[in-house]
Amino acid sequence: PPSKPRVIYWFRTDLRLHDSPALAAALDLDPEVFYPIWTWDPHYVYRARVGANRWQFLTDCQRDLSSSLTKLNPKQKLHLIREAPQTVFPKLFKLWRITHLVFEKDTDAYARDRDRGVMKLAEDAGVEVIVKMGRTLYDPDELVKHNGGRPTMSMAQTQKAAAALGDPAKPIPPPTCLPDPGDTDLSSIDHQRPDPNPDLNAAHRDLSNKESQYTSIMGPNKDFSIPTLQEMGISGATTPNRGGETIALRTLDTIISNSDYTGLFEKPKTAPTAFSPQSTTLLSPHHHFGSLSIRLFYWRVQEIYQKRKRAKKPNSSIPENLHGQLLFRDMYFGAQAAIGAPFAQEVGNPICKFVDWHLRSNLNENNLLAGDYIVDNSQAELYFRRWKFGVTGFPWIDALMRQLRLEGWIHHLGRHAVACFLTRGGCYVHWERGAEVFEEWLIDHEVACNSGNWMWLSCTAFFSQFFRVYSPVAFPKKSDPAGAFVRHFVPELKNFDQKYIYEPWRAPIADQRKWGCLVQGDGSATQTHEREDGLQVYPKPMFDFDERRKFCIEKMKLAYHVGMQGDDPRVLDGSWKEV
Ligand code: FAD
Repeated sequence: PPSKPRVIYWFRTDLRLHDSPALAAALDLDPEVFYPIWTWDPHYVYRARVGANRWQFLTDCQRDLSSSLTKLNPKQKLHLIREAPQTVFPKLFKLWRITHLVFEKDTDAYARDRDRGVMKLAEDAGVEVIVKMGRTLYDPDELVKHNGGRPTMSMAQTQKAAAALGDPAKPIPPPTCLPDPGDTDLSSIDHQRPDPNPDLNAAHRDLSNKESQYTSIMGPNKDFSIPTLQEMGISGATTPNRGGETIALRTLDTIISNSDYTGLFEKPKTAPTAFSPQSTTLLSPHHHFGSLSIRLFYWRVQEIYQKRKRAKKPNSSIPENLHGQLLFRDMYFGAQAAIGAPFAQEVGNPICKFVDWHLRSNLNENNLLAGDYIVDNSQAELYFRRWKFGVTGFPWIDALMRQLRLEGWIHHLGRHAVACFLTRGGCYVHWERGAEVFEEWLIDHEVACNSGNWMWLSCTAFFSQFFRVYSPVAFPKKSDPAGAFVRHFVPELKNFDQKYIYEPWRAPIADQRKWGCLVQGDGSATQTHEREDGLQVYPKPMFDFDERRKFCIEKMKLAYHVGMQGDDPRVLDGSWKEV
């Protein structure tokens, strides 16, 4: 038997060196050889919806991490292995004579399944597995345990459970040196490579063919290189937001150096219409990929609070401040950890209220009874598509959806606006459809946060005040009366007078001509291209918003059986107000 441990460190949700309890545990073993690897997980690569911008962010993080590993030891790098963990690990264990496998705990439903399988493989091979939490402030399973075994459904519950657990762990420093990797050649197992994905869905087959062109699980040059987007056949990354631990730490430094910004941050006071720079931290994609430790963020913010004497004790998070934002993330992780896979859908999800949405998800069609609930399909499908591609005729909604597609990120309250509009505040389309679009286009997509927030906004869980509907006209005016955000992302309207910027259909035709854009048509391609007379075209609103809002609220009242659950007096006496 080897005298010293031979360790695989499996990077997944933790693409960083700083404050990584799992990485520290691996190095504490004082390994003889150390293999930092990433396995090309077919679930992520082929089955999840991952748009080009998130792909780019991921490979940015991998590249940055790899070069940091090399800086610590010139023989080291991130070894990117192009095969599923479920099939490649037994081969690696044997070939590299591995004694320990170490990774960060992941409580996502798919990840739990995968990791359970891999742990069994390790057990069969006599390999010891070490798993450490590092992805959230608190271990989601512990939060659930301290919430009576129930999903964390409110900030109050989350704060209480967190208080019982004490302060989040203090960040630990990055390693200063790394052992060598030992022999890395995998040629002898290359020929055993199975078809990487026999049961792919059609949408991803093209990508799969590209992947299966690889002759080696070590990559085309047999050097474990990180693939380029081009190599993977992915094009169209347009986001200015780039990934990697180096950028994440630099951004955090900039945020923390502004004591007023950090100390006085209150989410509801940040402008959803601010762009370049945005009004919140934009650290979420770094949290998703683990290029920034959430605990490092927490404790650096805490230093500012202490200096400013705002926080009496470290756990006194108010929901609006930066600590509160981080705890919201933990709340959704806790809820998901308790519920498992159904958290991301309505079917089988114990916390999700049933609403008879007009357009349901593609995901769960198999679970519906024949003909069930699929009504009004054509109109709702049209609403959905116009929402997705930013041609609803409501400039605020369209600007947000175009920003999302282009940049992979929109402000939290912008997400509120488009999610409310698609579901209970306009289109009456199932929240899962919107969540699918976010899944594809967000660079910070996180199953727990995305599904949780979509349920919140659609009033199917977490939040129930369905009479509070965001107006696509009044809401953005509060922070951006001149419409700079709309002018930037919906350039057809850039010359419109501010009086009409959120309601361009009200502008007199003569003015529309003068400002270079006619408001007409339904946003279909043939109608939005530039006309021969040089005028642009922007679509008419796809419905009368006030009518739809009333319609949705009536439907939601029924869904809530007003008088039983949705018995807010403002609903009953009709005095609800728009926000
Ligand atoms: P900041 O305001 O600077 O907050 C700091 C950090 O706190 C964020 O980076 C993030 O990690 C966390 N955070 C803040 N607000 C929330 C919240 N409401 N829920 C969970 N974590 C939060 N966030 C994701 O990370 N991934 C998602 O897939 C996602 N989908 C969403 C879908 C909808 C419909 C809505 C309404 C919100 C969603 N959010 C999601 C939450 C939130 O909008 C983003 O985390 C936030 O806008 C990220 O920007 P920021 O880093 O500037 O946030």
